[in-house]
Formats: sequence, structure tokens, C-alpha cells
Amino acid sequence: MSKTIKKIGVLTSGGDSPGMNAAIRSVVRTCAFHNIECVGIYRGYQGMIEGDFKELGPRSVNNIINKGGTFLKSARSQEFRTPEGRKKAHDNLVKEGVEALVVIGGDGSFTGGLLFNAEFGFPVIGIPGTIDNDIYGTSHTLGYDTALNTVVEVIDKIRDTASSHNRLFLVEVMGRDAGHIALNAGIGAGAEEILIPEEDLGLERLMDSLKRSKSTGKTSSIVVIAEGDKTGKNVFELKDYVESNFPEYDVRVSVLGHMQRGGSPSCFDRVLASRLGVKAVESILEGKSNYMVGLLNDKIALTPLEQAIKGHTEIDRELLRVSDIMSI
Ligand code: ATP
Repeated sequence: MSKTIKKIGVLTSGGDSPGMNAAIRSVVRTCAFHNIECVGIYRGYQGMIEGDFKELGPRSVNNIINKGGTFLKSARSQEFRTPEGRKKAHDNLVKEGVEALVVIGGDGSFTGGLLFNAEFGFPVIGIPGTIDNDIYGTSHTLGYDTALNTVVEVIDKIRDTASSHNRLFLVEVMGRDAGHIALNAGIGAGAEEILIPEEDLGLERLMDSLKRSKSTGKTSSIVVIAEGDKTGKNVFELKDYVESNFPEYDVRVSVLGHMQRGGSPSCFDRVLASRLGVKAVESILEGKSNYMVGLLNDKIALTPLEQAIKGHTEIDRELLRVSDIMSI
């Protein structure tokens, strides 16, 4: 392992996700393990531009493995999109003696990192942190598993009230472009139907399914809908549509919103964050740059950042079939 790098900077950028703190902790402690310094950069790229840095040692990250969000704070920085902003950020890193970056965030953050590397030859390694699980090169992004557990827990509670009142609940979950949360949490929570952006199942099919449910004696139902579903109706319009076709249904809407992004990370996310942090730092020490660390077939693997940004994640179509069978 070549150890020419003496100081690594770590930042969180874009939307926060549970497990980011655990990843920062892992980066900081792996640096300490290899006797190199670590600098926390507050508020993502904006903090880099403003020189908002703090030296972090292994004891600076006590008691954060269990905390949601990110103690380094996250931000979206318009200024970093400009060459002048990136130049300021680079000057600050050089002044601070930081020689490589670990960027924890989504594809936008990786795009910024890649550009930064192209302009200044600065080593950058990415850790995928987003609840949507829509990043190529990893089966799981940080926070996705926690979000699934949060959604299932909430739908379990909704089910209690749905079954007590013979109601149909339309539950909207996050996922503008990707249905991973809806599909997996939907199956996990026993949803009747799941509507996702990747599949246009059509309103007809939803109506048929509800009709079938009624005729087979189901008195309450849960339908899970990703924000970006393809029905062309928002969840409230969908409620009106269902009610106009089935006046006998008492339809309620629940939009889960930001609660899906918060909360204490699951054990899975904590372990994943710890593994990814170690690999990120050790990859830098091996002289690597422009890679994302991810989980592939339960092994930590590197994917070129460019591929991680451009590649598309696919939903597991077998899960659609499983969901169909379960809702008989
Ligand atoms: P999320 O998945 O939560 O949206 P993200 O990392 O994709 O996370 P973005 O807001 O897209 O979130 O990007 C985070 C930050 O990365 C931006 O605020 C900006 O500072 C930087 N960034 C994104 N795209 C670019 C780009 N094309 N050039 C330079 N910087 C960029």
C-alpha cells in the first residue's frame, strides 16, 4: 500500500440519508488506523468553497454510528457548478493540506467530484448515499435499507387502521425515477398493488385488481405508489378516480414524505457504511481515483465514477411477479 497521501477530506453532499454518519465515522477511523489525517468538510461542496473544515480524529466520531442525517451537514452548492467556485474550493484544500477527497452523496455529487478531478487532478472516491437505491454499481446505496424498514413499519400501522375500518389506503412513497422503495417495501408490507415509475401497469389493472379483491372477500387494501408512477395522476387524483369507480370503497391517502429519509440507520446500513468507508480510504492509499465503492454480490467493489453516474439501475422484475402472486 503506497502511503504518499497524508491528509484526506470527507464531505456529505446532496440529499442526506441514514448511514452517512456511520460512513464518515468509518472514513475517519480508517484514516487514523493508517496514520493519516482526516478533515471533515462541512456543508458539502459549499463548505469546501468557504473553507469550513475541521480536523477529525477517531474520538470526534464517537456516538454517531446510530444517528440519522449527517453531522457534517449536507448542502446543494450552485457555486461549485462554476469554474470559479471549484477553483476557490481547490485553493482551500491546498491551503489545508488535503490531498484527496471522499465524497458521500448521489450522482450529482459524483459529477461534481469527477469535474473537480478533471480540472485539478485531485483524487476523488465516492460513497453512494441516497435512499432511492438508484445508483449503478451497487446493489444497495446507504440509507436504502433503513428507508425500506421505515416504510414497512409505517404501512404496518396504516394496515391496522385500514382493516379496522374496511378502508383502501393509497400510500405514496419516495421514488421519482426509481421504484425500488415502492416495490420492495410494498412486498414487505403486503401491498395489494404497487405502482412504480419503471412499469406502466395502467389504471385498468389497478381497477381489476381492486375488483378481484372485493370479490374474493378482502375488506381492506393497501396500494403502494412511488412518486414517479406512470398513471399520469397524482395520488389525490388517483383517490378520486378509484372512488368514482368504486363508490363502496372508503379511500384514504397517506403521503409518507421526508420521514423516509430520517431515523436511526438499520444494522445493514451501519455495516455497509463501515465497509464502504474502509474501502474508500484504502483505495485512495492505493493510488486510486474516480471510483465509487459499492456492494456487488455482497462484496465491496469499485465502479468507475463515470459509469456509476451514467449507468441505469434496473428493478428486479421477478419481484413484480412475486407481488402479483401475493395479491391473489
Ligand atoms: P441526491 O441523490 O440526494 O439528489 P445528489 O448528489 O445527486 O444527491 P445534487 O443536488 O444533484 O445531489 O448534487 C449535489 C451537489 O453536487 C450540487 O449541489 C453541486 O454542488 C454538485 N454538482 C452536481 N452536479 C454538478 C455538476 N454538473 N457540476 C458541478 N457540480 C455539480
